[in-house]
Amino acid sequence: MRLILLGPPGSGKGTQAQRLVQRYGIVQLSTGEMLRAAVAAQTPVGIKAQHIMASGGLVPDEIVVGIISDRLEQPDAAKGFILDGFPRTVPQAEALDELLKKKQIKLDAVIELRVNESVLLQRVETRIAEMRARGEEVRADDTPEVLTRRLASYRSQTEPLIHYYSERRKLLTVDGMMTIEHVTREIDRILSAIGAAEAKASSKAAAAKRTANRSNKGAKKAAKPVAGRASKSVGKAARASKKGAKAARKAGKPVSRGAKKAVRKPAAGSRARVAGKTRKAAKKVTKRPAKA
Ligand code: ADP
Repeated sequence: MRLILLGPPGSGKGTQAQRLVQRYGIVQLSTGEMLRAAVAAQTPVGIKAQHIMASGGLVPDEIVVGIISDRLEQPDAAKGFILDGFPRTVPQAEALDELLKKKQIKLDAVIELRVNESVLLQRVETRIAEMRARGEEVRADDTPEVLTRRLASYRSQTEPLIHYYSERRKLLTVDGMMTIEHVTREIDRILSAIGAAEAKASSKAAAAKRTANRSNKGAKKAAKPVAGRASKSVGKAARASKKGAKAARKAGKPVSRGAKKAVRKPAAGSRARVAGKTRKAAKKVTKRPAKA
């Protein structure tokens, strides 16, 4: 499972991400956490990011893209991941698309947690109080003033991603105003639906692959008897079997419309019919001696 969690500060991304980590055994990649670790360790990146973060601004794209690129290389990310806090700008989303393409990784979904802004301040105040009660250090940017700036940068820089991913048919929106439990259940429901749809698509693709393979074998066999009659037909069969192989390759991937068409209409190259006849003929041949 490869997901992005999208939502303003205080929308519950971190909480839901942790639950998803437990449920799916995938890693949570939070740029906020990574940057805070860099600040704590005073690495060169941390030193650069420190003041930007404390004031509620956004760390430059190239820094966070670099961090994520390195992180995705690590073996624990191979099983799947949840990106939390990244991408935060359209250029970051574009850079991520490029990265995933290069690494041949497919994104499953972008889950947007939608909340009313009016509750966010209250939620962050509660978070601060709870952290203090547990004796934990409160984040430098968890103050009402900085939160206002973080919200403003979410609205202007991050919100456009909702459109970006909805255009790419990746966006799934969950009502983040429900209880934590309800939100988790809703996310689970959505992810199961995606899982079921993918399983269906891949079993269809596997069936298509089998059909294409069978047709291919048939076309090869069929090419022999006609060879003596007309070399033109052989050419046709060969071309058809090439098409079949292409369809099979396509079918191996998530079913695209092209692949479906290619599989549904193999008769275009006369291959399926030839193959069908050959198979029937083969059956007859094997049946007859059995009867005798
Ligand atoms: P929030 O709770 O506001 O979503 P995060 O923990 O995700 O906070 O991030 C904290 C701060 O780290 C941000 O306000 C920002 O300064 C910096 N940051 C985190 N992720 C990114 C990113 N993808 N691009 C730029 N800056 C980031």
